[in-house]
Amino acid sequence: MIIVMRPDHQEEDLLRIVRRLEDMSLRAHISKGEHRTIVGAIGDERIIAEIPMESFPGVEKVLPILKPYKLVSREFKPENSVVHINGLAIGGLQIQVIAGPCAVESREVLEQIAEEIEPAGVRFLRGGAFKPRTSPYAFQGWGEKGLKLLAGVRDKTGMKIVTELMDPRDTVMVCKYADIVQIGTRNMQNFRLLTEVGNIDKPVILKRGLCATIKEFLMSAEYIMAQGNEKVILCERGIRTFETETRNTLDISAVPLLKQLTHLPVIVDPSHAVGRADLVPAVSRAAIAAGADGLLVEVHVRPEEAMSDGPQSLRPNVFLSMIEECRRVAEAVGRFI
Ligand code: PEP
Ligand code: MN
Repeated sequence: MIIVMRPDHQEEDLLRIVRRLEDMSLRAHISKGEHRTIVGAIGDERIIAEIPMESFPGVEKVLPILKPYKLVSREFKPENSVVHINGLAIGGLQIQVIAGPCAVESREVLEQIAEEIEPAGVRFLRGGAFKPRTSPYAFQGWGEKGLKLLAGVRDKTGMKIVTELMDPRDTVMVCKYADIVQIGTRNMQNFRLLTEVGNIDKPVILKRGLCATIKEFLMSAEYIMAQGNEKVILCERGIRTFETETRNTLDISAVPLLKQLTHLPVIVDPSHAVGRADLVPAVSRAAIAAGADGLLVEVHVRPEEAMSDGPQSLRPNVFLSMIEECRRVAEAVGRFI
């Protein structure tokens, strides 16, 4: 339920409502916008329906939230959420670029990649230390050793670290090194893992499941937020279709649609979406034109030697010129990189 406060409501009106909701074991989420303050009531809908909220002083109207997701919905919080990460922001006017190799391989390769992408204004370095591979015989990532290599590059460059968490048992370890925790496409509906990251004090990039509908995607984000972690960033990374020329099919409409349905930042991973380096620049430009708040791009100094996802990894020079093109598109839509 959403309780819309009158513009002239008093602070004590708000407090009275929050107290009443909490007395009924419900949660109140206050959102103070530029023009309106709204209170979202979360909990058992039957209990909420019994409270005559319209009669409380300062209340203008009461609206049911018809969607199955509440905390993530735009109705619940009309203004955009901006996720802050140690002085940087995702979801504001600036479009953030997160780039780096698919997997952390060696200190030398990681440092080379970081050095080559930094001139593009990249402030977030990605790299997997735990890799979700289709084959159990493929490289699975270096685990904590990989996390330490990422942290070493952060110390040298100041770049923030984005890395995937696959198993709840590794949460403490991954959080020790990561600035943003990534939940991969294969784990979008690993509800135990979602609950786990709902309880951490780090931003989470939640990737869309490769066969997930938008509604399922948002319900997974709701799992995280329901635990109290509001720093959720959604990532469209392509979905499975009948097409085999590309690795997945980028659902570009997901970007404006998610922006309509939720207040959360939305970024796009063009690399896993297409699986081919030659298509990544065009798809990245399209993502920004469609309203994405950021890009998550795979870059490698020698894609032909990459331990995973070489075919979709951009060489640094291609990446740099792609970012220049993206900058122009960003300007055209009133943003900047
Ligand atoms: C990744 O970003 O390294 C990754 C494995 O992506 P996804 O979960 O989208 O396949
Ligand atoms: Mn990859």
